Amino acid sequence: MRWNPMFGLLKIRIVILAAVFLGLVPFVASEIMRTRADMARQLDAMNQSMMQALLRSQRGFVETRIEIERLSETIALYDSLRHMSAADCNDSMSRTLEIQEKVERISLISPGGTIYCSTDPKAIGVYVGDRAYFTGAIASKGVVWSDFIISRITGRLLLQSAKAVRTGDRVDFVLAIALNTGYLRQASLDQFNLPLTYGMLLDAHGKVLDGGPMPGVKDPLSETTAKRLAEIGTGLVLPDTYGAGGNVFAVTTLPGTTDRIGFGVATDQVRSVATRAMIERLALVGLVALSIAAAVLGLLEWLVLRGLRQVVHVAERVSAGDWTSRITQTSVLPDLALVGRSVNMMLDSLQASVNTDPLTGLANRRALDTFLLASLNRLKRHGVGFTVVMIDIDAFKPFNDHYGHGMGDDVLQLVGATIQRFARRTDEIAARYGGEEFTLILTETDPEKLRLHLEALRQAVAAIAIPHLHSPHAVCTVSIGYAAAKDDDTPLAAISRADGCMYLAKRKGRNRVEGLPDDHRDLELLAGFMTDVA
Ligand code: GH3
Ligand code: MG
Ligand code: MG
Repeated sequence: MRWNPMFGLLKIRIVILAAVFLGLVPFVASEIMRTRADMARQLDAMNQSMMQALLRSQRGFVETRIEIERLSETIALYDSLRHMSAADCNDSMSRTLEIQEKVERISLISPGGTIYCSTDPKAIGVYVGDRAYFTGAIASKGVVWSDFIISRITGRLLLQSAKAVRTGDRVDFVLAIALNTGYLRQASLDQFNLPLTYGMLLDAHGKVLDGGPMPGVKDPLSETTAKRLAEIGTGLVLPDTYGAGGNVFAVTTLPGTTDRIGFGVATDQVRSVATRAMIERLALVGLVALSIAAAVLGLLEWLVLRGLRQVVHVAERVSAGDWTSRITQTSVLPDLALVGRSVNMMLDSLQASVNTDPLTGLANRRALDTFLLASLNRLKRHGVGFTVVMIDIDAFKPFNDHYGHGMGDDVLQLVGATIQRFARRTDEIAARYGGEEFTLILTETDPEKLRLHLEALRQAVAAIAIPHLHSPHAVCTVSIGYAAAKDDDTPLAAISRADGCMYLAKRKGRNRVEGLPDDHRDLELLAGFMTDVA
C-alpha cells in the first residue's frame, strides 16, 4: 500500500490535537474545582449578608417598638385626656398621629373594652375587650404587645401595643397604638441589598401572615419551607433543603412576639456568574491551546512533512521511470537534510547501475536508447549531426565453442574497453548493444575522418592480439558499419542503417569498416545486399 502523505498528515494532526487537549484535562479539572470553591465562598458570603440584613431589620423593629412605647408613656401622661370630649380626643390623637409615620392608629379603649376615641373614626364603638393585648394591659403595669393580628376595623395586619392608664389602682382607659406594618415591611426590605425572591411574615406554626413570593417570582413559598422557617426561629434554610429549591432563606423571630420574618434569595445568579466566569476562562485557555496546536502543526508541516512529501514524490517519479528525479528542497532539519542527501546518493548509484552493462562497464542498451533519442532530438531541433556505428566481433561463436564462455567474457571486456576509448566527448557514447555487438554514437560526420577513426578502432582491436584459432587472421577481429543519422530518422532506422553497413563488412570478408555517409550514395547497394541476406 502506498503511503498517502495527506492521510499521514491527518493522522499526525489528530495526534497532536489530541495531545494538546489531553494536556488541558488537569487544567479543566482544577478550574471546575476552583469554580466550585468560588461558588461555595460566594454563597457563604450571601448567607452571611442575609443574616446581617435580618439582624439589622430586627434591630430596627426593636427601636420602633421602643419609640412606640415611649410615645405610649408620653400620651399616658396627658392628664387632660381623662376629661376630654370624644371629639376633642379624636382631634388631639390625630394631631399626634400626623408626626408619627410609624404609627397606623391610636385608640383609647374604655375599661369595658369599647373604643371611644381613635384616629380612625371607623374604630369608634368597636369592642376589643376580648383581645389578648387588652386583657394583658389591664393585668400589667407596662406596655403590652400583641402578635400580628388581623384588624377588626380594617381587616389588615396589625401589631398592637397597649397600656392601661390608671388613677391609683383604677383603670381609666387603655391606650392602644397600632404599628404601621407597611412601614415595618419597607424598613425590613430596605435592609437587603440582594435581589429578594421571597419576603414574608410567619406565625410560630409557619402560617404566612403577610407577603410571600416577590413580584415576578412564580413559585409559591412551599409549606415545607415555611414550616422549617417557623421551626428554626432564627437561622438559614439552605438551597435544595426543606423545599427551598434554588433559594436560600433566612428567618428571625421578631422580639416580643412569636412571629417571624423570613426572606429568600435565588442562588442561581451566584452560580451562573461563577459558571460564566469559569466558561470564559476555559474558552480563553482553549483558544490559546488551539493557537499553540496550530503553531505546532504549522511548524511540523514546514519542518518535517513538506520534506517527507518530497521524498514520496521523488519515489513515485522514479517508479514511473523518471530516473532524473531528485530531492531539491534542503530541509532546515539536519536529520531530514541528511535523508534527502542519502536518497539522492542512492538514486545516483541506482541510476548508474540501471544504465550500465555489468560485464563490460559500458553503457547498456537502455542508456543507449535514451542517448540516441536525445541525439536525434538535438539533430531535429538544432541540426547537430552525428554518426551511428555498429561493431560486431567476428566468428565469436566458434571462439566461445573453442575457448569457453569464460574466455569469451574476457574478450567482450577487452574489446569493450577498447571501443570505450573511441568515444571521448561527453556528447558521445560507447554502449554494449547486446551479445557481442557494440554501438558507438560519435559527433564526427566527416566521411574521411570517420573512416580513419574507425579504421583505427578496427586495428586497435586486432592489435590486442587475442588468439583465435578459427579466424583467418588468427586473432580476434571486429566488423564495423556506420551511417550518418538523418533528421527524419527513428532510433530504429538510424541503428538499422549502421547495422546494414556492418553486415556489408561481414559479407565483404569481416575485419573491415563499411560506411554509409549522408550522401546516400551506397543506398541502392545496401538495399540490394539486404535482399540478398534475406
Ligand atoms: P559473425 O562473424 O558472422 O558475427 O559470426 P559469429 O559467430 O560472431 O555470430 P553468431 O551470431 O553466430 O554468434 C554470436 C555468439 O556470441 C553466440 C554466443 O555464443 C556469443 N555470445 C553472445 N553474448 C555472449 C556473452 O555475453 N558472453 C559470451 N561468452 N558469449 C556471448
Ligand atoms: Mg552478432
Ligand atoms: Mg559476431
